[in-house]
Amino acid sequence: MNRNFTAFCAAMFASALIIAFCGGFWLKESTFALADTPSPAVKSVYLTFDDGPSDKVTPKILDVLKEENVKATFFIIGRQARTRMNILKRAFDEGHTLGVHSYSHEYNKIYKSAQSLLDDIDECNEVIKSVTGNYSDIYRFPGGSFGLSTALISAVTSHGMRYVDWNASTRDAEIYDATPQQLYAAALTTAANTESIVLLAHDSTTKSATAQALRKIIRHFKDEGYLFSAF
Ligand SMILES: [Zn+2]
Repeated sequence: MNRNFTAFCAAMFASALIIAFCGGFWLKESTFALADTPSPAVKSVYLTFDDGPSDKVTPKILDVLKEENVKATFFIIGRQARTRMNILKRAFDEGHTLGVHSYSHEYNKIYKSAQSLLDDIDECNEVIKSVTGNYSDIYRFPGGSFGLSTALISAVTSHGMRYVDWNASTRDAEIYDATPQQLYAAALTTAANTESIVLLAHDSTTKSATAQALRKIIRHFKDEGYLFSAF
């Protein structure tokens, strides 16, 4: 078996662990360790952007990703995408993964019952299909899966969706009026000592600082020998 193939297998195994362990996927500021599992030969970063697309921030993020030749995953809000299909199409055309986040992103509505959650997912997925030709099978719960009932989580997986939370964060939804430097520092701090990083960020309209911090974040992880992947 050649070394490239071995490394590839290790990376795939690490990715599978991320999916398999996503129920325990983590953070606010703690770090997560895959206890008793082999450490992956390839260090990887999954950049994830929630709550877009937005006219103001998503194109700037796409510009940086293109210039840095990095693929990412966009967990979209279907209702916002409906009026920004050109941006959604651009993300897809440039090789990024479109995942389901929500159609309405209204917690009271979507978490009312398993059925309303699935209806929300399906409505969002119709928007994705209209651009990509396929339904997405990757999902991020609004707010993450932390603390949700087993019934809600198993309704989603029984519906054919994989879900993923995060184990590192720019904290761009938590730090009020954050500077790019603060977001960069948060990404590094929360990802410390982690070999398979899933980094939370947002591309909603108020997150200009996220777009401004992105290149420096990417270059840091490149310098540290990480490879970038999308779900
Ligand atoms: Zn969200």
